[in-house]
Amino acid sequence: MADLDSILRETFGFSGFRSVQRDVIDRVMAGAHSLAVMPTGAGKSLCYQIPALARPGTGLVISPLIALMHDQVRAAEAAGIKAATLTSADADWAATQDRFRAGDLDLLYVAPERASGDGFQAMLEATPLSLIAIDEAHCVSEWGHDFRPDYRLLRPMLDRFADVPRIALTATADRHTREDILAHLGIPDEGLIVAGFDRPNIRYIVQPRAGLPKQIKALTDEQPGAGIVYTTSRAAAEKLSAQIAATGRSARAYHAGLPAEERAANQAAFVASEDMVMCATIAFGMGIDKPDVRFVAHAGIPKSIEAYYQETGRAGRDGDPAEAHLFWGAEDFSRARRRIEEEVEPERRAGERTRLNALGGLVETATCRRAILLRHFGESPPERCGNCDNCLDPPKAVDATETARKFLSA
Ligand code: ADP
Ligand code: MG
Repeated sequence: MADLDSILRETFGFSGFRSVQRDVIDRVMAGAHSLAVMPTGAGKSLCYQIPALARPGTGLVISPLIALMHDQVRAAEAAGIKAATLTSADADWAATQDRFRAGDLDLLYVAPERASGDGFQAMLEATPLSLIAIDEAHCVSEWGHDFRPDYRLLRPMLDRFADVPRIALTATADRHTREDILAHLGIPDEGLIVAGFDRPNIRYIVQPRAGLPKQIKALTDEQPGAGIVYTTSRAAAEKLSAQIAATGRSARAYHAGLPAEERAANQAAFVASEDMVMCATIAFGMGIDKPDVRFVAHAGIPKSIEAYYQETGRAGRDGDPAEAHLFWGAEDFSRARRRIEEEVEPERRAGERTRLNALGGLVETATCRRAILLRHFGESPPERCGNCDNCLDPPKAVDATETARKFLSA
């Protein structure tokens, strides 16, 4: 059998597997179906890349976005892996199909609507498949935040190749979404593998807004290091960056309304900087590789607990202490509630309401923030983390109950 450790070392240049990577890979190697839930940046790709190299045949990878597929193929080829895409943006279809039929591909990336097509499935019969990876698998769930109906069409294809181990991957899955993925993709319950979501070096701090500019100024005056402030509008991003810059701290803005060159320049400056504050809409952050972001602040509520986790997760990737601040107002929730009732399709409203309520639970709690976050992702954390505002400085109401309890038990 192929030596997984030597593939890891020689092809990828890594010295060891991270968290649950090895557990996931072992299941795929054994031919079993799995769902890997691992935080962003945890290394999900490796979980199918290594078994695709170690098992005979080509690994089929289903991915929702062409840009994402092309990034993956570039990275794979740089590591010496034979990979290609078949997308509407590719001109070399015939050559790729020939390579596939000749067994000259380790990995073939396609979109879900392609994978479910008859002609494509017939082509797949030509060569043994090592595995079928379904990336961003939360797209299969209507409950999730990113439902894509095309993911629902995959099941007949998966069942046509029922002996091929399938591996679904996602970073963002609450229990409900997870159950949906298992059911829709035909993965047994015991195939679920969840990596630890805890980011112990991030300190979570949640406060009501009370004069946001002053609060942000206090934060940026006192916090060294690069930071991101997420605003809820483009105008707010620009205004805030000007305000911070006026205090003498380097600051820039980033949002989808800026010209592409300015966005790219601001992003590059941020990545290179050790103390810049980037004031941005959530258009900023995906795919940015900056390990030493020291703080992330939200000037208004994020879309969901998943979004909060993902956005705050951009802080402290180097493992050094980092802070996540959330400034919220009751009006954030009333606005979000109104948006759900007025703009969301009726059949998706219940899910959105539940997501919003979960976020409400996180901001309003007097108990450990981290415990709430981790329970949301299906973990069973200790009751107190010691590194969030409520653990470090328990709110008075909790103090009172604890005092009362001590009193009663004395
Ligand atoms: P995800 O899809 O989970 O967000 P990726 O698969 O894109 O994450 O991997 C994130 C980064 O981690 C990549 O740069 C990858 O090369 C790196 N990585 C993955 N596994 C390991 C490992 N075992 N050791 C070191 N780096 C790793
Ligand atoms: Mg990924």
